[in-house]
Amino acid sequence: FDRQHLTTRRLFSSSSRCMTVMPAWVIDKYGSNDALRFTKNASFPVINYPNEVIVKVFAAGLNPMDVSMRGGYGAATLSRKRDPLNIKQSGSEFPLILGRDVSGVIMECGLDVKYFRESDEVWAAIPPWKQGSLAEFVVLSANEVSHKPRSLTHTEAAAIPYVATTAWSALVNTGGLSKDNCTKKRILILGGSGGVGTFAIQMLKAWGAHVTVTCTQNAEHFVRGLGADHVVDYTAGPVEEPLTTLEKFDLILDNVGGDTERWALTLLKPWSGAKYITLITPFLQNMDRLGIADGMMQTAATVATKALKNLARGVHYRWGFFAPSGPALDEIREMVDAGQIRAVVEETFKFSQVPQAFNKLEKGHARGKTVVEIS
Ligand code: NDP
Repeated sequence: FDRQHLTTRRLFSSSSRCMTVMPAWVIDKYGSNDALRFTKNASFPVINYPNEVIVKVFAAGLNPMDVSMRGGYGAATLSRKRDPLNIKQSGSEFPLILGRDVSGVIMECGLDVKYFRESDEVWAAIPPWKQGSLAEFVVLSANEVSHKPRSLTHTEAAAIPYVATTAWSALVNTGGLSKDNCTKKRILILGGSGGVGTFAIQMLKAWGAHVTVTCTQNAEHFVRGLGADHVVDYTAGPVEEPLTTLEKFDLILDNVGGDTERWALTLLKPWSGAKYITLITPFLQNMDRLGIADGMMQTAATVATKALKNLARGVHYRWGFFAPSGPALDEIREMVDAGQIRAVVEETFKFSQVPQAFNKLEKGHARGKTVVEIS
């Protein structure tokens, strides 16, 4: 009660009006774009734990995950994460605020927050079980937040965190890559022109890797401009054919999925520690379809079978996942401010145009990121 009371009091003191509600785009049920609703009366976020901060949102980046979540993807797992003891009734996640990227300013710090102060400019990737950034304010754990790169506007900064922390988690935590061991490594990125791809190309080039990318022919100039060394057009015929003629790879990041697993692992250098990491996993889908317990069992069985089968062929098969991380964003900020990574904003929308932003996202064929300017 004391913490809550303090927060409310501070909100009163830092503003002349009582902030108990705020503008936001919410969904009240899962569905298509019709489910999106603008309200001026969304609940104002509250600091519940002493390590939390409230961020005033200046810009919100959108991701394919937002479109999937709008349709109910991952609902079983994410609801369990929000309510581990399963106390609340089904549907208690509504009204749900989407938006996984935020750039903004710290408005309020919990009592244990040491690294941030009010008015600090910050960026963050918001875990999908938390309320998102299509709102005037959002509450986050301080360890999910990082100081924003000085060289970027808020709009540019909101284009990076979710795809960057996903690429970081896949390439660094799962793939074992770092700035010290990438020189001359041959990396293949399947799907280089979207959010994750455009970030991963730049990060790997900054670390000295040789980067091959698959994309549509009309994106070749674009991905080369980001540093890709070799580009293969996946629309010109079976993409595995030109890829098979190339020197084998040390690591593959798969942003495409589908039938790629059938041939991609044969492109790796066998018995060298080479890894295939796919971001397209049935993890949340299994839970939605089978329930948490059976879904977990099915997921564990699937990944173990695939990993063992490929291990016998001398290559490593892994799943990659988004992982929120302020410390990873701190390192990424250094690379951005050093001019090694730039934000790739394909299109921006006003706060009033969130449904149009979702329409754009749903059409696919991304060339970088879609960002909503909140204030
Ligand atoms: P985007 O929508 O931004 O980009 C996808 C890109 O892939 C587009 O540029 C598209 O362009 C291109 N593309 C589509 N089909 C192919 C193909 N067959 N070969 C090569 N390129 C292709 O998505 P993100 O980069 O943000 O994410 C990539 C994937 O990773 C998504 O499926 C996303 O859901 C998933 N993801 C998973 C996460 C996890 O935790 N596991 C976290 C983040 C993302 P075009 O169609 O014009 O070729």
